[in-house]
Amino acid sequence: MPIQFLSPQLANQIAAGEVVERPASVVKELLENSLDAGADRIEIDIEKGGHKRIRIFDNGKGIPKDELQLALSRHATSKIATLDDLEHILSLGFRGEALASISSVSRLTLTSRTANQNEAWQACCEGREMAVTVQPAAHPQGTTIDVADLFYNTPARRKFLRTEKTEFQHIEEVIKRIALSYPHASFLLKHNGKLVKRFIADKQGALAPRIASVLGQKFVDNAVHINVDYEGIQMDAWLGNESVLRSSNDCQFSFVNGRGMRDKLIMHAIRQAYESVWGVLEQPSFVVYLTLDPRDVDVNVHPAKHEVRFQQGRLVHDFICKSVCDALHAISQPESHEETV
Ligand code: ADP
Ligand code: MG
Repeated sequence: MPIQFLSPQLANQIAAGEVVERPASVVKELLENSLDAGADRIEIDIEKGGHKRIRIFDNGKGIPKDELQLALSRHATSKIATLDDLEHILSLGFRGEALASISSVSRLTLTSRTANQNEAWQACCEGREMAVTVQPAAHPQGTTIDVADLFYNTPARRKFLRTEKTEFQHIEEVIKRIALSYPHASFLLKHNGKLVKRFIADKQGALAPRIASVLGQKFVDNAVHINVDYEGIQMDAWLGNESVLRSSNDCQFSFVNGRGMRDKLIMHAIRQAYESVWGVLEQPSFVVYLTLDPRDVDVNVHPAKHEVRFQQGRLVHDFICKSVCDALHAISQPESHEETV
């Protein structure tokens, strides 16, 4: 075959392979867009574990009618314009790929209204084979994105979907993680029309009540809370002390500038601290929020942005490790805590 350009649809489907692994990845991308749009009320409606439908409503700033088509195009974003913007990025998105990718492997409808539009507009596309059509619609200020029949045109991908129950659990995990770092926003989750979860917004953005509603009051009551800073890095953390009792890593959450991730350096620093204080543990439980100058972190490392690169990795690592060590020294050993309960 001679060398030829991929069609835009095929290019999007290939990109979708990187970011759209399963329904939960769609939920993650859409929630991040809602939060980037300043929404503080988000409703998530899932049908059949996301196999059939994922619909997310937000009260964010909306998308102007004349930008609807662009929103669905690859490499089109309102979040960065220059390399310098990328270097001090605070938004969750910046690649301009999510909607293009998702719409290339589903039937997507985007309905939106901005504050200065009298009516809402809707763009529909089906696997992006046809041109996007835009028509008037009814919607309050904000955006609803409806993703139906995910992977309907990519059977190889569809085969990898697990049961509805499993896919829904992945979706719940994504929502928990995002809810943990956006306490000022409310989240409502429905599955097959039934309310499954509701996280109420805290106008002040207090973290402890949100952590309690996501992970349970018991976790917050038993955890040691630290709020420390060093050389411009700030860390707010809740460190669990029932770590030896847990065999899975379902209670390890770390955030860098609001972005949830499973970063190796952070994980390593925390584990090292736990191990040096309490010996080898299975899986410590913790929620850690790091805030630092966005110029000191590179978020453009992984398409799904699960990892970051720190400008001063060693410093960040040692700061986390030492702070966690100090805090753990101050509380009782997990075993002795168990005895006292
Ligand atoms: P990115 O988030 O990387 O910019 P996306 O493909 O996820 O790329 O979204 C493309 C653009 O569409 C965004 O830059 C934003 O302007 C707009 N957009 C997407 N979702 C929303 C939303 N829920 N509310 C407002 N604007 C949105
Ligand atoms: Mg995005």
